Amino acid sequence: MAHIVVIGAGLGGLPTAYELRHLLPPQHTVTLISDQPKFTFIPGLVRVALDITPIDHFQLELAPLAQRQGLEFIHSRVTAFEPRSRCITLENEQTVHYDYAVIATGPGFAFDRVPGLGPHGGYTHSICSAPHALEARTAWLNFLERPGHLVVGAAPGAGCFGPAYEFVLMADWILRQRGLRDKATLTLVTPEPYVGHLGVSGVKNAQRLTEKLLRQHQIEIIDNAEITSVSPAHMTLDNGRTLPQTYAMILPAFRGVQFILDTPGLATEKGFIPVLPTQQHAQFPEIYAIGVSVSLTQPEKTRIPIGMPKSGQMTEAMGMAVAHNIAVELGVLPAPLQVPTLEAICFAEFGDTGILYVAAPVLPDPATQQRRYAYAVQGRWVVWGKTAFEYYFMAKMRQGAAVPWFERLGLKALFGVDLVKPIPHLQKTIVSA
Ligand SMILES: Cc1cc2nc3c(=O)[nH]c(=O)nc-3n(C[C@H](O)[C@H](O)[C@H](O)COP(=O)(O)OP(=O)(O)OC[C@H]3O[C@@H](n4cnc5c(N)ncnc54)[C@H](O)[C@@H]3O)c2cc1C
Repeated sequence: MAHIVVIGAGLGGLPTAYELRHLLPPQHTVTLISDQPKFTFIPGLVRVALDITPIDHFQLELAPLAQRQGLEFIHSRVTAFEPRSRCITLENEQTVHYDYAVIATGPGFAFDRVPGLGPHGGYTHSICSAPHALEARTAWLNFLERPGHLVVGAAPGAGCFGPAYEFVLMADWILRQRGLRDKATLTLVTPEPYVGHLGVSGVKNAQRLTEKLLRQHQIEIIDNAEITSVSPAHMTLDNGRTLPQTYAMILPAFRGVQFILDTPGLATEKGFIPVLPTQQHAQFPEIYAIGVSVSLTQPEKTRIPIGMPKSGQMTEAMGMAVAHNIAVELGVLPAPLQVPTLEAICFAEFGDTGILYVAAPVLPDPATQQRRYAYAVQGRWVVWGKTAFEYYFMAKMRQGAAVPWFERLGLKALFGVDLVKPIPHLQKTIVSA
Protein backbone atom coordinates (compact mmCIF):
# COMPACT_ATOMS: atom_id res chain seq x y z
CA MET A 1 0.00 0.00 0.00
CA ALA A 2 1.30 3.44 -0.85
CA HIS A 3 2.65 6.11 1.46
CA ILE A 4 2.11 9.62 0.12
CA VAL A 5 3.94 12.42 1.90
CA VAL A 6 2.96 16.05 1.47
CA ILE A 7 5.69 18.47 2.61
CA GLY A 8 4.38 21.89 3.65
CA ALA A 9 0.89 22.65 4.97
CA GLY A 10 0.19 26.02 3.37
CA LEU A 11 -2.23 27.07 0.66
CA GLY A 12 -1.04 24.23 -1.53
CA GLY A 13 -0.12 21.43 0.86
CA LEU A 14 -3.18 21.35 3.14
CA PRO A 15 -5.89 21.19 0.44
CA THR A 16 -3.80 18.67 -1.50
CA ALA A 17 -3.51 16.40 1.54
CA TYR A 18 -7.31 16.69 2.02
CA GLU A 19 -7.98 15.86 -1.60
CA LEU A 20 -5.61 12.86 -1.49
CA ARG A 21 -7.43 11.61 1.60
CA HIS A 22 -10.79 12.00 -0.17
CA LEU A 23 -9.67 10.23 -3.31
CA LEU A 24 -7.63 7.36 -1.87
CA PRO A 25 -9.01 4.38 0.05
CA PRO A 26 -7.86 4.05 3.68
CA GLN A 27 -5.19 1.42 2.99
CA HIS A 28 -3.04 4.21 1.51
CA THR A 29 -1.41 6.50 4.08
CA VAL A 30 -1.25 10.27 3.60
CA THR A 31 1.29 12.07 5.82
CA LEU A 32 1.47 15.84 6.12
CA ILE A 33 4.78 17.35 7.26
CA SER A 34 4.91 20.98 8.37
CA ASP A 35 7.59 23.05 10.03
CA GLN A 36 4.78 25.19 11.48
CA PRO A 37 2.17 23.97 13.97
CA LYS A 38 -0.45 26.13 12.25
CA PHE A 39 -1.83 26.65 8.78
CA THR A 40 -1.56 30.33 7.76
CA PHE A 41 -3.72 31.95 5.09
CA ILE A 42 -0.88 34.03 3.62
CA PRO A 43 -3.07 36.54 1.67
CA GLY A 44 -4.45 37.71 5.04
CA LEU A 45 -1.02 38.89 6.19
CA VAL A 46 -1.42 42.33 4.58
CA ARG A 47 -4.33 42.94 6.98
CA VAL A 48 -2.32 41.54 9.91
CA ALA A 49 0.66 43.82 9.25
CA LEU A 50 -1.62 46.87 9.02
CA ASP A 51 -3.34 45.92 12.28
CA ILE A 52 -6.73 45.51 10.60
CA THR A 53 -7.28 41.85 11.48
CA PRO A 54 -5.61 39.73 14.19
CA ILE A 55 -3.42 36.87 13.04
CA ASP A 56 -5.62 34.24 14.74
CA HIS A 57 -8.28 34.93 12.15
CA PHE A 58 -5.96 33.53 9.46
CA GLN A 59 -4.49 30.55 11.30
CA LEU A 60 -5.64 27.02 12.16
CA GLU A 61 -3.98 24.39 14.37
CA LEU A 62 -2.87 21.61 12.06
CA ALA A 63 -2.70 18.61 14.43
CA PRO A 64 -6.45 18.42 15.25
CA LEU A 65 -7.38 19.10 11.60
CA ALA A 66 -5.12 16.29 10.41
CA GLN A 67 -6.47 13.91 13.03
CA ARG A 68 -10.10 14.63 12.07
CA GLN A 69 -9.35 14.10 8.38
CA GLY A 70 -7.41 10.84 8.75
CA LEU A 71 -4.02 12.34 7.91
CA GLU A 72 -0.79 11.44 9.68
CA PHE A 73 0.77 14.70 10.85
CA ILE A 74 4.40 15.44 11.64
CA HIS A 75 5.34 18.84 12.99
CA SER A 76 8.97 19.18 12.02
CA ARG A 77 11.09 20.80 9.34
CA VAL A 78 12.42 18.76 6.44
CA THR A 79 16.19 19.17 6.48
CA ALA A 80 17.27 16.65 3.84
CA PHE A 81 15.63 14.93 0.92
CA GLU A 82 17.01 11.91 -0.91
CA PRO A 83 15.09 11.24 -4.13
CA ARG A 84 17.03 8.07 -5.01
CA SER A 85 16.26 6.28 -1.75
CA ARG A 86 12.91 8.12 -1.36
CA CYS A 87 13.89 9.20 2.11
CA ILE A 88 13.11 12.43 3.96
CA THR A 89 15.09 13.56 7.02
CA LEU A 90 13.46 15.82 9.57
CA GLU A 91 14.85 18.30 12.07
CA ASN A 92 13.63 16.03 14.88
CA GLU A 93 16.01 13.38 13.40
CA GLN A 94 13.10 11.21 12.26
CA THR A 95 13.35 9.73 8.75
CA VAL A 96 10.31 9.16 6.57
CA HIS A 97 10.13 6.96 3.47
CA TYR A 98 7.67 7.72 0.72
CA ASP A 99 6.22 6.15 -2.39
CA TYR A 100 5.02 9.54 -3.62
CA ALA A 101 6.14 12.93 -2.33
CA VAL A 102 4.36 16.23 -2.94
CA ILE A 103 6.59 19.25 -2.33
CA ALA A 104 4.53 22.29 -1.30
CA THR A 105 7.05 24.25 0.72
CA GLY A 106 6.35 27.71 -0.71
CA PRO A 107 9.05 30.36 -0.90
CA GLY A 108 12.45 30.88 0.64
CA PHE A 109 13.25 34.59 0.84
CA ALA A 110 16.26 36.04 -1.01
CA PHE A 111 16.78 39.03 1.29
CA ASP A 112 20.54 38.54 1.00
CA ARG A 113 20.48 39.66 -2.65
CA VAL A 114 20.11 43.32 -1.63
CA PRO A 115 22.27 44.73 1.19
CA GLY A 116 20.08 45.98 4.04
CA LEU A 117 16.92 44.22 2.81
CA GLY A 118 14.60 42.31 5.10
CA PRO A 119 13.66 41.99 8.73
CA HIS A 120 16.58 39.70 9.67
CA GLY A 121 19.24 42.30 10.36
CA GLY A 122 18.09 44.59 7.54
CA TYR A 123 15.99 47.75 7.48
CA THR A 124 12.84 46.74 5.62
CA HIS A 125 9.78 44.79 6.69
CA SER A 126 8.12 41.86 4.96
CA ILE A 127 4.64 40.33 5.09
CA CYS A 128 5.52 37.00 3.50
CA SER A 129 5.25 34.86 6.65
CA ALA A 130 3.35 35.10 9.93
CA PRO A 131 6.42 36.17 12.00
CA HIS A 132 7.33 38.77 9.35
CA ALA A 133 3.80 40.20 9.37
CA LEU A 134 3.73 40.42 13.17
CA GLU A 135 7.06 42.21 13.23
CA ALA A 136 5.86 44.53 10.43
CA ARG A 137 2.71 45.25 12.48
CA THR A 138 4.69 46.37 15.54
CA ALA A 139 6.71 48.75 13.38
CA TRP A 140 3.53 49.98 11.64
CA LEU A 141 2.00 50.89 14.99
CA ASN A 142 5.16 52.89 15.77
CA PHE A 143 4.91 54.55 12.34
CA LEU A 144 1.36 55.63 13.14
CA GLU A 145 2.71 57.32 16.26
CA ARG A 146 5.31 59.21 14.21
CA PRO A 147 4.43 59.12 10.51
CA GLY A 148 7.10 59.92 7.93
CA HIS A 149 8.27 58.37 4.66
CA LEU A 150 6.51 55.12 3.78
CA VAL A 151 8.18 53.16 0.96
CA VAL A 152 6.48 50.01 -0.30
CA GLY A 153 7.40 47.74 -3.17
CA ALA A 154 9.31 44.77 -4.42
CA ALA A 155 12.95 43.84 -4.81
CA PRO A 156 14.53 42.92 -8.16
CA GLY A 157 13.65 39.34 -9.11
CA ALA A 158 10.38 39.39 -7.14
CA GLY A 159 7.40 37.65 -8.73
CA CYS A 160 4.75 38.48 -6.15
CA PHE A 161 3.59 42.10 -6.47
CA GLY A 162 -0.12 42.25 -5.58
CA PRO A 163 0.47 42.47 -1.80
CA ALA A 164 2.66 45.58 -2.28
CA TYR A 165 -0.22 47.41 -4.02
CA GLU A 166 -2.61 46.23 -1.33
CA PHE A 167 -0.24 47.37 1.42
CA VAL A 168 0.44 50.87 0.08
CA LEU A 169 -3.19 51.63 -0.80
CA MET A 170 -4.54 50.22 2.45
CA ALA A 171 -1.88 52.14 4.39
CA ASP A 172 -3.07 55.29 2.58
CA TRP A 173 -6.68 54.43 3.52
CA ILE A 174 -5.78 53.97 7.22
CA LEU A 175 -3.71 57.17 7.32
CA ARG A 176 -6.64 59.10 5.81
CA GLN A 177 -9.10 57.61 8.28
CA ARG A 178 -6.86 58.72 11.15
CA GLY A 179 -6.27 62.19 9.75
CA LEU A 180 -2.55 61.47 9.36
CA ARG A 181 -2.22 61.39 5.58
CA ASP A 182 -0.67 64.86 5.31
CA LYS A 183 2.05 63.79 7.75
CA ALA A 184 3.31 60.97 5.50
CA THR A 185 4.74 60.57 2.01
CA LEU A 186 3.91 57.32 0.23
CA THR A 187 6.06 55.81 -2.53
CA LEU A 188 5.70 52.60 -4.50
CA VAL A 189 8.98 51.18 -5.86
CA THR A 190 8.80 48.21 -8.19
CA PRO A 191 10.93 46.38 -10.76
CA GLU A 192 7.80 45.85 -12.89
CA PRO A 193 8.06 47.67 -16.26
CA TYR A 194 4.85 49.50 -15.33
CA VAL A 195 2.51 49.53 -12.34
CA GLY A 196 -0.26 46.96 -12.50
CA HIS A 197 1.93 44.58 -14.52
CA LEU A 198 2.08 42.09 -11.63
CA GLY A 199 4.43 39.81 -13.55
CA VAL A 200 1.86 39.26 -16.33
CA SER A 201 1.97 41.63 -19.29
CA GLY A 202 -0.93 42.67 -21.48
CA VAL A 203 -3.76 42.40 -18.94
CA LYS A 204 -6.42 44.74 -20.31
CA ASN A 205 -7.04 47.79 -18.05
CA ALA A 206 -4.54 46.62 -15.39
CA GLN A 207 -2.03 49.44 -15.90
CA ARG A 208 -4.64 52.16 -16.41
CA LEU A 209 -6.73 51.28 -13.36
CA THR A 210 -3.79 50.66 -11.01
CA GLU A 211 -1.90 53.79 -12.03
CA LYS A 212 -5.03 55.97 -11.79
CA LEU A 213 -5.71 54.71 -8.28
CA LEU A 214 -2.14 55.33 -7.08
CA ARG A 215 -2.12 58.84 -8.56
CA GLN A 216 -5.56 59.66 -7.09
CA HIS A 217 -4.12 58.80 -3.69
CA GLN A 218 -0.93 60.88 -4.19
CA ILE A 219 1.31 57.82 -4.07
CA GLU A 220 4.54 58.40 -5.96
CA ILE A 221 5.21 55.70 -8.54
CA ILE A 222 8.75 54.52 -9.28
CA ASP A 223 8.51 51.61 -11.70
CA ASN A 224 11.24 49.82 -13.65
CA ALA A 225 13.38 50.33 -10.55
CA GLU A 226 16.04 48.24 -8.93
CA ILE A 227 16.62 48.66 -5.20
CA THR A 228 20.37 48.28 -4.76
CA SER A 229 20.77 48.84 -1.02
CA VAL A 230 18.89 49.89 2.07
CA SER A 231 20.18 51.72 5.14
CA PRO A 232 18.26 52.58 8.35
CA ALA A 233 16.92 55.82 6.87
CA HIS A 234 17.35 55.48 3.10
CA MET A 235 16.85 53.24 0.11
CA THR A 236 19.12 53.51 -2.93
CA LEU A 237 18.03 52.72 -6.49
CA ASP A 238 20.17 51.71 -9.46
CA ASN A 239 19.75 55.15 -11.08
CA GLY A 240 21.49 56.63 -8.05
CA ARG A 241 18.35 58.09 -6.51
CA THR A 242 18.11 57.86 -2.75
CA LEU A 243 14.70 57.69 -1.09
CA PRO A 244 14.22 58.63 2.56
CA GLN A 245 12.40 55.90 4.47
CA THR A 246 10.87 55.80 7.92
CA TYR A 247 9.05 52.53 7.25
CA ALA A 248 9.65 50.26 4.26
CA MET A 249 7.80 47.08 3.31
CA ILE A 250 9.60 45.42 0.42
CA LEU A 251 8.60 42.01 -0.98
CA PRO A 252 11.77 39.99 -1.63
CA ALA A 253 12.65 37.78 -4.59
CA PHE A 254 11.73 34.18 -3.85
CA ARG A 255 13.85 31.07 -4.07
CA GLY A 256 13.30 27.44 -3.07
CA VAL A 257 13.62 26.46 0.60
CA GLN A 258 16.94 25.15 1.89
CA PHE A 259 16.49 21.37 1.57
CA ILE A 260 15.46 21.82 -2.08
CA LEU A 261 18.57 23.93 -2.77
CA ASP A 262 20.66 21.25 -1.02
CA THR A 263 19.29 18.31 -3.07
CA PRO A 264 21.35 17.74 -6.24
CA GLY A 265 19.31 17.26 -9.40
CA LEU A 266 15.99 18.28 -7.83
CA ALA A 267 15.66 21.92 -8.74
CA THR A 268 16.97 24.91 -10.69
CA GLU A 269 19.80 27.03 -9.36
CA LYS A 270 17.23 29.18 -7.55
CA GLY A 271 15.66 26.13 -5.95
CA PHE A 272 12.46 25.97 -8.01
CA ILE A 273 11.40 22.49 -9.12
CA PRO A 274 10.90 21.95 -12.86
CA VAL A 275 7.83 19.81 -13.52
CA LEU A 276 6.07 18.03 -16.37
CA PRO A 277 2.51 19.15 -17.19
CA THR A 278 1.28 16.57 -14.64
CA GLN A 279 3.34 18.41 -11.95
CA GLN A 280 5.79 15.48 -11.78
CA HIS A 281 9.53 15.84 -11.67
CA ALA A 282 10.96 14.62 -14.99
CA GLN A 283 13.75 12.51 -13.44
CA PHE A 284 11.87 11.41 -10.32
CA PRO A 285 8.27 10.83 -11.43
CA GLU A 286 7.15 9.89 -7.92
CA ILE A 287 7.97 13.46 -6.84
CA TYR A 288 5.37 16.14 -7.50
CA ALA A 289 5.68 19.87 -6.79
CA ILE A 290 3.04 22.57 -6.43
CA GLY A 291 2.75 26.28 -5.69
CA VAL A 292 5.66 28.60 -5.20
CA SER A 293 8.16 25.71 -5.13
CA VAL A 294 7.51 25.06 -8.86
CA SER A 295 9.74 26.52 -11.58
CA LEU A 296 7.72 28.73 -13.95
CA THR A 297 9.82 30.76 -16.39
CA GLN A 298 8.91 34.40 -16.87
CA PRO A 299 8.52 34.63 -20.67
CA GLU A 300 8.93 38.42 -20.78
CA LYS A 301 12.29 40.14 -20.83
CA THR A 302 12.15 43.21 -18.63
CA ARG A 303 14.91 45.72 -17.84
CA ILE A 304 14.95 44.55 -14.24
CA PRO A 305 14.40 40.78 -14.00
CA ILE A 306 11.11 39.75 -12.43
CA GLY A 307 9.68 36.33 -11.59
CA MET A 308 6.36 34.72 -12.43
CA PRO A 309 3.49 35.19 -10.00
CA LYS A 310 2.24 31.94 -8.47
CA SER A 311 -1.13 32.80 -7.01
CA GLY A 312 -3.06 30.91 -4.38
CA GLN A 313 -5.58 29.75 -6.91
CA MET A 314 -2.90 28.48 -9.32
CA THR A 315 -1.40 26.64 -6.34
CA GLU A 316 -4.70 24.99 -5.46
CA ALA A 317 -5.20 23.97 -9.09
CA MET A 318 -1.76 22.35 -9.14
CA GLY A 319 -2.64 20.51 -5.91
CA MET A 320 -5.94 19.22 -7.30
CA ALA A 321 -4.20 17.92 -10.44
CA VAL A 322 -1.53 16.23 -8.30
CA ALA A 323 -4.03 14.46 -6.00
CA HIS A 324 -5.98 13.30 -9.06
CA ASN A 325 -2.85 12.10 -10.87
CA ILE A 326 -1.56 10.16 -7.86
CA ALA A 327 -4.97 8.48 -7.59
CA VAL A 328 -4.74 7.60 -11.29
CA GLU A 329 -1.19 6.25 -10.80
CA LEU A 330 -2.39 4.06 -7.96
CA GLY A 331 -5.20 2.68 -10.13
CA VAL A 332 -7.86 4.20 -7.85
CA LEU A 333 -9.28 6.52 -10.50
CA PRO A 334 -9.85 5.15 -13.99
CA ALA A 335 -9.50 8.57 -15.61
CA PRO A 336 -7.12 10.54 -17.81
CA LEU A 337 -4.35 12.44 -16.08
CA GLN A 338 -4.98 16.12 -15.39
CA VAL A 339 -2.99 19.31 -15.76
CA PRO A 340 -3.65 22.63 -13.99
CA THR A 341 -4.81 25.29 -16.40
CA LEU A 342 -2.93 28.04 -14.52
CA GLU A 343 -5.82 30.39 -15.12
CA ALA A 344 -5.55 32.95 -12.35
CA ILE A 345 -7.93 35.35 -10.70
CA CYS A 346 -6.59 37.67 -8.05
CA PHE A 347 -8.74 39.87 -5.79
CA ALA A 348 -6.67 42.86 -4.65
CA GLU A 349 -8.23 45.00 -1.91
CA PHE A 350 -7.31 48.64 -1.56
CA GLY A 351 -9.35 49.88 1.40
CA ASP A 352 -12.65 51.18 0.04
CA THR A 353 -12.13 49.76 -3.45
CA GLY A 354 -10.32 46.90 -5.12
CA ILE A 355 -9.22 45.52 -8.47
CA LEU A 356 -9.85 42.04 -9.78
CA TYR A 357 -7.05 40.84 -12.07
CA VAL A 358 -7.83 37.86 -14.32
CA ALA A 359 -5.29 36.13 -16.59
CA ALA A 360 -6.46 32.99 -18.30
CA PRO A 361 -3.93 31.51 -18.39
CA VAL A 362 -1.03 33.41 -16.80
CA LEU A 363 1.42 32.01 -19.36
CA PRO A 364 0.42 32.96 -22.91
CA ASP A 365 0.36 30.34 -25.65
CA PRO A 366 4.05 30.04 -26.69
CA ALA A 367 3.13 29.93 -30.40
CA THR A 368 0.62 32.80 -30.58
CA GLN A 369 1.59 34.75 -27.42
CA GLN A 370 -2.16 34.99 -26.79
CA ARG A 371 -4.27 34.20 -23.73
CA ARG A 372 -7.93 33.21 -23.76
CA TYR A 373 -8.53 36.47 -21.95
CA ALA A 374 -6.88 38.79 -19.45
CA TYR A 375 -8.51 41.82 -17.90
CA ALA A 376 -8.81 43.92 -14.76
CA VAL A 377 -11.96 45.47 -13.28
CA GLN A 378 -12.34 47.81 -10.34
CA GLY A 379 -15.09 48.10 -7.74
CA ARG A 380 -15.96 48.02 -4.09
CA TRP A 381 -17.44 44.57 -4.66
CA VAL A 382 -13.87 43.26 -5.12
CA VAL A 383 -13.21 43.98 -1.42
CA TRP A 384 -16.41 42.13 -0.46
CA GLY A 385 -15.42 39.29 -2.84
CA LYS A 386 -12.00 38.98 -1.21
CA THR A 387 -13.46 38.96 2.31
CA ALA A 388 -16.08 36.40 1.32
CA PHE A 389 -13.40 34.21 -0.27
CA GLU A 390 -11.23 34.49 2.85
CA TYR A 391 -14.09 33.27 5.08
CA TYR A 392 -14.94 30.53 2.62
CA PHE A 393 -11.34 29.34 2.34
CA MET A 394 -10.83 29.22 6.11
CA ALA A 395 -14.17 27.39 6.52
CA LYS A 396 -13.24 24.75 3.98
CA MET A 397 -9.81 24.25 5.58
CA ARG A 398 -11.61 23.74 8.93
CA GLN A 399 -14.00 21.26 7.34
CA GLY A 400 -11.32 19.31 5.48
CA ALA A 401 -12.63 20.21 2.03
CA ALA A 402 -10.23 20.97 -0.83
CA VAL A 403 -11.99 22.42 -3.88
CA PRO A 404 -15.61 21.25 -3.82
CA TRP A 405 -17.62 20.84 -7.05
CA PHE A 406 -19.65 24.01 -6.41
CA GLU A 407 -16.45 26.10 -6.16
CA ARG A 408 -15.25 24.75 -9.50
CA LEU A 409 -18.70 25.48 -10.98
CA GLY A 410 -18.72 28.99 -9.49
CA LEU A 411 -15.27 29.84 -10.88
CA LYS A 412 -16.40 28.67 -14.30
CA ALA A 413 -19.77 30.44 -14.19
CA LEU A 414 -18.54 33.77 -12.73
CA PHE A 415 -15.10 34.15 -14.28
CA GLY A 416 -14.91 31.51 -17.05
CA VAL A 417 -11.95 29.97 -15.22
CA ASP A 418 -11.15 26.24 -15.01
CA LEU A 419 -8.76 24.87 -12.39
CA VAL A 420 -7.69 21.68 -14.15
CA LYS A 421 -8.27 19.97 -17.43
CA PRO A 422 -7.92 16.33 -18.48
CA ILE A 423 -5.29 15.38 -21.01
CA PRO A 424 -6.65 12.22 -22.66
CA HIS A 425 -3.42 11.44 -24.54
CA LEU A 426 -1.28 11.76 -21.38
CA GLN A 427 -1.31 8.21 -20.10
CA LYS A 428 0.30 6.88 -16.95
CA THR A 429 3.33 5.90 -19.05
CA ILE A 430 4.57 9.50 -18.94
CA VAL A 431 6.00 8.67 -15.54
CA SER A 432 8.48 6.21 -16.96
CA ALA A 433 9.26 8.22 -20.10
C1 LIG B 1 1.62 38.77 1.52
C2 LIG B 1 1.09 37.87 0.44
C3 LIG B 1 -0.21 38.07 -0.02
C4 LIG B 1 -0.73 37.27 -1.02
N1 LIG B 1 -2.00 37.50 -1.47
C5 LIG B 1 -2.52 36.69 -2.41
C6 LIG B 1 -3.85 36.89 -2.86
O1 LIG B 1 -4.54 37.83 -2.45
N2 LIG B 1 -4.34 36.02 -3.79
C7 LIG B 1 -3.60 34.99 -4.26
O2 LIG B 1 -4.08 34.22 -5.08
N3 LIG B 1 -2.32 34.78 -3.86
C8 LIG B 1 -1.78 35.60 -2.94
N4 LIG B 1 -0.50 35.39 -2.52
C9 LIG B 1 0.23 34.22 -3.02
C10 LIG B 1 -0.16 32.99 -2.19
O3 LIG B 1 0.01 33.26 -0.83
C11 LIG B 1 0.72 31.83 -2.63
O4 LIG B 1 0.39 31.53 -3.97
C12 LIG B 1 0.48 30.58 -1.81
O5 LIG B 1 0.66 30.81 -0.43
C13 LIG B 1 1.42 29.49 -2.28
O6 LIG B 1 1.15 28.32 -1.58
P1 LIG B 1 2.33 27.32 -1.22
O7 LIG B 1 1.67 26.13 -0.62
O8 LIG B 1 3.22 27.15 -2.38
O9 LIG B 1 3.17 28.09 -0.11
P2 LIG B 1 2.74 28.53 1.37
O10 LIG B 1 1.31 28.85 1.46
O11 LIG B 1 3.73 29.56 1.76
O12 LIG B 1 3.00 27.21 2.23
C14 LIG B 1 4.26 26.61 2.34
C15 LIG B 1 4.33 25.90 3.68
O13 LIG B 1 5.47 25.01 3.69
C16 LIG B 1 6.11 25.14 4.95
N5 LIG B 1 7.52 24.74 4.81
C17 LIG B 1 8.52 25.44 4.22
N6 LIG B 1 9.68 24.76 4.31
C18 LIG B 1 9.42 23.62 4.97
C19 LIG B 1 10.23 22.51 5.37
N7 LIG B 1 11.53 22.48 5.11
N8 LIG B 1 9.64 21.50 6.04
C20 LIG B 1 8.30 21.52 6.32
N9 LIG B 1 7.48 22.55 5.96
C21 LIG B 1 8.04 23.58 5.29
C22 LIG B 1 5.94 26.61 5.29
O14 LIG B 1 6.12 26.87 6.66
C23 LIG B 1 4.51 26.86 4.83
O15 LIG B 1 3.60 26.55 5.87
C24 LIG B 1 0.07 36.22 -1.56
C25 LIG B 1 1.38 36.03 -1.12
C26 LIG B 1 1.89 36.86 -0.14
C27 LIG B 1 3.31 36.67 0.32
